[in-house]
Amino acid sequence: MRMTSLAFALRNFYTASMNMPALARFTFFALFSTSTITAQAADKVIVLKAARLFDGKSKTLVQNGVVIVQGNKIVDAGSNLPAPSDAQVIDLGDATLSPGFMDGHTHLTLDFSGNYNERRLKEIDLNVSEQAILATGHARATVEAGFTTVRDLGSRFPASKEMVDIALRNSINKGVIIGPRMLVATFGIGATGGHFDPTSGFRDMLFGREPDYSDGIADGPDAIRKAVRFEVKNGADVIKAAVSGGVLSLADEVDTPQLTPAEMAALVDESHRLRKKVAVHCHGDQAAKEAIEAGVDSIEHGSFLKPETLTLMKNKGTYLTPTLMATEWILGKIDNYPPALQAKAKAAGAARSDMFRNAVKMGVKISFGTDAAVFPHGQNAKEFKLMVDLGMQPIEALKTATGNAADLFGVAQKTGTLEKGKLADVIAMPGDPTADITVTERVSFVMKEGKIIRNGPATPQPVAISADPSPELPAD
Ligand SMILES: [Zn+2]
Repeated sequence: MRMTSLAFALRNFYTASMNMPALARFTFFALFSTSTITAQAADKVIVLKAARLFDGKSKTLVQNGVVIVQGNKIVDAGSNLPAPSDAQVIDLGDATLSPGFMDGHTHLTLDFSGNYNERRLKEIDLNVSEQAILATGHARATVEAGFTTVRDLGSRFPASKEMVDIALRNSINKGVIIGPRMLVATFGIGATGGHFDPTSGFRDMLFGREPDYSDGIADGPDAIRKAVRFEVKNGADVIKAAVSGGVLSLADEVDTPQLTPAEMAALVDESHRLRKKVAVHCHGDQAAKEAIEAGVDSIEHGSFLKPETLTLMKNKGTYLTPTLMATEWILGKIDNYPPALQAKAKAAGAARSDMFRNAVKMGVKISFGTDAAVFPHGQNAKEFKLMVDLGMQPIEALKTATGNAADLFGVAQKTGTLEKGKLADVIAMPGDPTADITVTERVSFVMKEGKIIRNGPATPQPVAISADPSPELPAD
């Protein structure tokens, strides 16, 4: 029996009787099941060399970087290491080796980057299967940009129960398609009429019923617990919830609280009991305070957070995922959005730069995250420059997307740094990212679990052969 199918069978049916601690079992089977395939090629040694190396945690780069890979694991990493005599040596020249980047906030199944109204229509027009096929291209673009692991924080299609993110994650793990390792959230959890209510802004009852826990929409602590249980039952790796309003939703204000403290307490308690981390969408300051007190693992966006709230985060060890790219993209294409959303985007955009500068100065834990889908997939690395422009040291920016992200994701035992025994997720970018952070946008080599996904130009995007769905055929 192939290990991948065994892994999923075990995870779905036999976990209760196994002796392995649940967290280890989950991490091994759900996230790293592909490693069992690559282990078959365990005898082949690949040596990656480049002028510099960033290990994912140190304060400086090392010169003459070497990463020695065998099978799916790193055997050794450092400076000037000798290559074993029978190894295949790949010399990447004037480049910097780094752990594969990690994005803590993507939506690989969605694409919100075009005109807002056209996108909204497309979401209810297109068959969900067709949207899933589009998502395979998003996954490939993301991993080819150097992002070997993502937390995919929410996937939903109006009037559909399809969990496309679960299908995408599983298809990547089984080697059916190419993409990053995904920790998925299924439907984000939120309140009726809140940022995640998929029927908000549409005519009342257009979809025939109000959404419920099985769409991630829940009101009251018990319903929130049920929504968490339902998502975990269906394979969620991480729990996402909206505790304040958002920018791209029509029926709410961007900074108002959307869950009560009692609902947040139930959300965190139930998720943590099931050993899942909790990431909360939150722009507003009051909602953030309540969420941090409730014990969430990360605040996503955080636009309006005041210094005292950032102090609370620092003291509690709560991560911030800033998603600067999201507001940057929306503000750059502001005419693509309805007036009500333009006003929300401008308010969030004006507040988030000071918030981020304060968070850096105060030493709040920061994990890289972009909100990819708001902008085209594969441009995730542009977040690095935005962080550096707002006062973060380049080496610290690199850490947010490697060692820090692995810590937040709960996968630091397996990936996030270039160290002996870790999975061989290794990328290379030209030049020196501490001198020019934008080289992160030009990753040219990507290895995931010892398999080379890219060495040179990216795979070209497919082009339309015929945009006409019913081309005229010549008459006989
Ligand atoms: Zn998002």
